[in-house]
Amino acid sequence: EKMQMASAREEKILVLVRLRPLSDKEILADEVADWECINDTTILYRNTLREGSTFPSAYTFDRVFRGDCSTKQVYEDEAKEIVLSVVSGINSSIFAYGQTSSGKTYTMTGITEYAVADIFDYIHRHEERAFVLKFSAMEIYNEAIRDLLTTDNTPLRLLDDPEKGVIVEKVTEETLKDWNHLQELLSVCEAQRRIGETSLNEKSSRSHQIIRLTIESSAREFLGKENSTTLAASVNFIDLAGSERASQSLSTGTRLKEGCHINRSLLTLSTVIRKLSKGRHGHINYRDSKLTRMLQPCLGGNARTAIICTLSPARSHVEQTRNTLLFACCAK
Ligand code: ADP
Ligand code: MG
Repeated sequence: EKMQMASAREEKILVLVRLRPLSDKEILADEVADWECINDTTILYRNTLREGSTFPSAYTFDRVFRGDCSTKQVYEDEAKEIVLSVVSGINSSIFAYGQTSSGKTYTMTGITEYAVADIFDYIHRHEERAFVLKFSAMEIYNEAIRDLLTTDNTPLRLLDDPEKGVIVEKVTEETLKDWNHLQELLSVCEAQRRIGETSLNEKSSRSHQIIRLTIESSAREFLGKENSTTLAASVNFIDLAGSERASQSLSTGTRLKEGCHINRSLLTLSTVIRKLSKGRHGHINYRDSKLTRMLQPCLGGNARTAIICTLSPARSHVEQTRNTLLFACCAK
């Protein structure tokens, strides 16, 4: 019998902003960095040539990270606590949101690795409980969910489970043995994502990658006994499609259609996040996209959520940077 730890606490969504540095290529091309984090919570637009422009120049969030901050620092300061809530039975999700090339994959890969290391560490320090750590990886591309751990390309179905909420039918779950095993699985995912695409960047700009760690644990003294209870929860690491896939449609007012460049899961996620940030009441349209339906048990209620909005500082990216900040403002 499974038990989910319930608490009355209603968490706000944690909204973080991470500015990346200019790349060597951008520096060689004489790009200018127009954005600067002036303290731990404020990011500033500093283009004096655009004075008098219609958008605000200072934006404040729970936390902003400068271009020279390491992923380790982002993890330790903000993500770690959310990740580790999984061992006490609380579901959580950490998203990377931003335009293509702003640093989503860079950020999520690092955070996933630190998270696994910390979870293993926790397991080793709590021998009074028996833990099982499971790893699964999926991609959502054109509203089809694919398993990144098998070569079988059949789309996975979402099912409503009376106990667990929504589940992904037949998804591969590997019991994670150690750090090397994680590295092996991550390279399997990477190889799977490349299939059928000439350029990984093109595909990653359109698809969402979800890595899910599920932890089950029970007290050893009750193992196999009738009064034994299992704590179970998942933490999800979501590397979203490039945010240009949502903002193009928002700025031009184009209707949502299948097969065009607009991304239904990304748009629905924006709506869901906006509603949740206003206080988790009323109808929330989780069922409008594969991503939000799949993550429903790990988004509302007492689940914990963080969104890391990644930004390029380059002058040539200013419109997308601003769109990302507007999304971030709606989420906080
Ligand atoms: P995205 O996944 O959003 O398309 P990537 O994570 O692939 O972007 O990042 C684009 C490039 O910028 C990569 O070469 C990556 O190594 C580099 N990069 C991203 N963020 C940082 C950062 N914070 N510090 C240093 N390099 C970064
Ligand atoms: Mg990427």
